[in-house]
Amino acid sequence: MTRKPIIAGNWKMNKNYGEAVVLAQAISNRLEKDWLDRVDVIVCPPFIDLKPVKTVFEFDRMNVELGAQNVHWEEAGAFTGEISVGMLKNVGCAFCIVGHSERRTLMGETNEEVNKKAKALIAANMKPIICVGESLAVREAETHEEFVCAQVKAAFAGIPAAQAKSCVVAYEPIWAIGTGRTATPEQAEAMCVAIRQTLAELYDATVAEGMRILYGGSMNPGNVEMLTAQPNIDGGLIGGASLEADSFVDLIKACL
Ligand code: PEP
Repeated sequence: MTRKPIIAGNWKMNKNYGEAVVLAQAISNRLEKDWLDRVDVIVCPPFIDLKPVKTVFEFDRMNVELGAQNVHWEEAGAFTGEISVGMLKNVGCAFCIVGHSERRTLMGETNEEVNKKAKALIAANMKPIICVGESLAVREAETHEEFVCAQVKAAFAGIPAAQAKSCVVAYEPIWAIGTGRTATPEQAEAMCVAIRQTLAELYDATVAEGMRILYGGSMNPGNVEMLTAQPNIDGGLIGGASLEADSFVDLIKACL
């Protein structure tokens, strides 16, 4: 089965309003519309930049999708500092990252919360990008497959096959995020195979084969081709290299 690749940029807590517009415009200027028939491009700016970034791509009729970096599972109410699925949808978000390792390690996000966020997004027809990945200690203990597959099972608990299909999984080894140290294509592929097998056990082979699994962790124009050449790696979730239009667009071109 051929899966459409995804290049998703996670801008994290970077780019103020003006800088975000400039970056979005620079990306848009470098894209060809027909590339977007062959690769799904998603940008995930900070919350306050979502609307202006969307406006740039809409004005250029460039079919770049918008994603958020986090969401709360409740619809509304007394949750100071949080944002709802409805609010994200209202500004044009189709995707949302959940369970990024920075949120798991720095903000204490649990597997249960990741699952609740994924379910809330699915209920609104939005697509979660579910991040999983092991620490260096877990990798060195050689329990990484068990650890990551348990994260996958927890994230998908109670999500029926029909909805699971719309989800994206991003395998991001924590030791490779923002460190310049990339997993080898073999390491990344082995984990993506294990994730796909877990999805096949949870659902069935057809569902698992149809789902897109990304790699994230110091992906850049120099290593993207080797990584995405692997049969089970369907693109990338990119931090640092998504903050410059040239490198981000080079990553997109590598998936054409
Ligand atoms: C990320 O934060 O999802 C990420 C993969 O970051 P980087 O590309 O900078 O390692």
